[in-house]
Amino acid sequence: MKKNIASVDVSGKKVFVRVDFNVPIEDGKITDDRRIRSALPTIKSIIDRGGKAILASHLGRPEGTGYEAEFTLAPAAKRLGELLGKPVGFPSQDAIDAASDAAVAAMNNGDVLLLENVRFHKAEKKGDAAFAAKLAHGADVYVNDAFGTCHRPEASMVAVPKSMTGKPKVVGFLVEKEVKFLSGAISAPTKPFVVVLGGAKVSDKMACIDNLLPKADHIIIGGAMAYTFLRALGKKVGSSRVEEDRIADAKKTLDLAAKLKCELHLPVDHVCNTQFSEHGDIEVFDGDIKDGYMGLDIGPKTQTKYALLIAKAKTVVWNGPMGVFEMSPFAVGTKSVARAMVDATKKGATTIVGGGDSAAAVEQMHLAEGFSHVSTGGGASLEMLEGKKFESVELLDNA
Ligand code: ADP
Ligand code: MG
Repeated sequence: MKKNIASVDVSGKKVFVRVDFNVPIEDGKITDDRRIRSALPTIKSIIDRGGKAILASHLGRPEGTGYEAEFTLAPAAKRLGELLGKPVGFPSQDAIDAASDAAVAAMNNGDVLLLENVRFHKAEKKGDAAFAAKLAHGADVYVNDAFGTCHRPEASMVAVPKSMTGKPKVVGFLVEKEVKFLSGAISAPTKPFVVVLGGAKVSDKMACIDNLLPKADHIIIGGAMAYTFLRALGKKVGSSRVEEDRIADAKKTLDLAAKLKCELHLPVDHVCNTQFSEHGDIEVFDGDIKDGYMGLDIGPKTQTKYALLIAKAKTVVWNGPMGVFEMSPFAVGTKSVARAMVDATKKGATTIVGGGDSAAAVEQMHLAEGFSHVSTGGGASLEMLEGKKFESVELLDNA
């Protein structure tokens, strides 16, 4: 357990908080503010106790050669101000220039300030120590509440806390909650433990499967990744997305699952189309997929089978949609898994959604409230399920 910001006296202190405000923005408008809302408990805990909250985040992938309007955090500062009901300072187009320094120096107790996108400096990605020392702005306390970035050893995640020798370095409420759910699920899951995996690429999820095989009772597979496994079993998958160079790995995983007595379930029927589109000739195939057709969602029999397995579970972890949920004819499988998990939650199961697209799908279906936990970190949650440790969390003070 890492020390939490709640147990640090922050009154009158400068508290550097690494948040993850990397939110989707279209035409200057934030389309999903979940990551900002998720940071509120930490920010409020600091300012309500008279601390000065200096927030830092990245947004998108700018060049790293200075300000770019497309990647400004200005909309996030505005949204945070609305959510807090008080002004949020946003001093400059550069997180470490004189204007930022002056704004930090002028803060009163209880103030909140957001520095501009830290990735406007190449030094952020490089984890540069000199940049980190400037970015810290002489803060007295370091808080990591940026779960979505915890798997990245960038300057604001690692070099900043390292530069603050002898000062408290702690987790915020969001990181604490994410780590508790994700590491709890894999280290001591209440059984039966069911893992649901889907999404675009089997290669993205191989390490996750291998780590969870010894722990899970059932691994349920959907999405495009199912077709590489079905090919490994010699099934006909038409023009479905297959990663040819991973068929051998899929075979090994199937063998390992059998040896470990972990049941690995693959779709038995498929919603298919002649093209990657909502239009065309949509047909359901039982078993083999006809030539010229590609699987874009799990079929009705598979949906029922998976829902029954989820209904019996006491712990469910889900990463990756069951089909191309962005197109409504292929969203049914993802929706049925989500509904089964919501029902399981009501019956006392612990249900966790990780993965950026899966979390977005759940939000889009207005079902997020029905899960025990919906992670704010796509890549970070997947790496936790792979069993990796994060330097950005490890280096923090123990409770
Ligand atoms: P997550 O972000 O939840 O980890 P991924 O990024 O691995 O999920 O995969 C999400 C993508 O997988 C979605 O954009 C979805 O359209 C795609 N996908 C799911 N099933 C299929 C399929 N059968 N064929 C092609 N793409 C698929
Ligand atoms: Mg994704």
